[in-house]
Amino acid sequence: MTRKPLIAGNWKMNMNHLESIALVQKIAFALPEKYYAKVDVTVIPPFTDLRSVQQIVDSDKLKLRYGAQDMSEHDSGAYTGDISGPMLAKLGCTFVVVGHSERRTYHYEDDAVVARKAKAALKHGITPIICIGEGLDIREAGDHVDYNINQLRGSLDGLTQKELAKIVIAYEPVWAIGTGKVASAADAQEVCAAIRSELSRIASPETAAKTRVLYGGSVTSKNIASIVAESDVDGALVGGASLKSDEFAQLCAVA
Ligand code: PEP
Repeated sequence: MTRKPLIAGNWKMNMNHLESIALVQKIAFALPEKYYAKVDVTVIPPFTDLRSVQQIVDSDKLKLRYGAQDMSEHDSGAYTGDISGPMLAKLGCTFVVVGHSERRTYHYEDDAVVARKAKAALKHGITPIICIGEGLDIREAGDHVDYNINQLRGSLDGLTQKELAKIVIAYEPVWAIGTGKVASAADAQEVCAAIRSELSRIASPETAAKTRVLYGGSVTSKNIASIVAESDVDGALVGGASLKSDEFAQLCAVA
C-alpha cells in the first residue's frame, strides 16, 4: 500500500493576514505544481489568516491546501472565542489540527475533548490531524509506546469505523517540538508503526494500511529525508521550518 505523503506547515501564532499573503505567494512560487503529484501540502495558519489564504489559493487555483490549528466541538452558540467546524468548512479548510501538545498543555485539552473535536471536524467534511506524543520523562522511562497507544485510543474514542477511515494521525514527541531535538528516524518509525498496528485493531487492517501517520518535532529540509524514508512515516507536521518559504518548499520537495 503506497500512501501519498502529507506535509503540513503549522504556523502556530505567527503571521498576520498580510504576512500570510506574502508567505503563501512565496510558497506557490517555490513549489511548482508538478510536486503535488507526489506530495500533498497544506498550510495551517492562524484563524485570522484563513480568508486571505483562501483567496490566493482560489484565485491562483493552487493545489496547496489549508486548514486550521484547532476548532470547537460545537457547531454554534455561546462559546466566546471559539471557531466552529461549519465556519472552517465554509472557508474551504481541508484539514484541522486537533490535540496539538500546545493545546493540551495551555488549554488543558484532554483525550476526550480531542476525540469530540475530531468527530465534529469529520461531521463537516474536514480531515482532523490528530496529534499525540509523549513528554521527555515518559520517553526516558521507556514508556513511550504504551503512552502513545493510550493517548491514541482516548483521542479516537467514539469515532465510527467510517470516521476512522478519514483521519490523519501526527506523532509529535513533546520533547522534540520547537527544541531542535529531532527524533531519530528509528524512534519515529517505532511509534508510527505501533500507531498503525493499533489502528489495525481499533479500525481494520485496510484502514490502518491507508491512514497517513505523520511525524512532527523539529523537522527541517536537512532531516526530513531519513524520517520519511521509514515505512510507517507518511510525512510531517512542521512548525518552525514552515515559516520560511524556501525551507518549507525544499522540505516538501525532498518528501
Ligand atoms: C509543531 O508545531 O507541531 C512542530 C512540530 O513544531 P516544530 O517543527 O517547530 O518542532
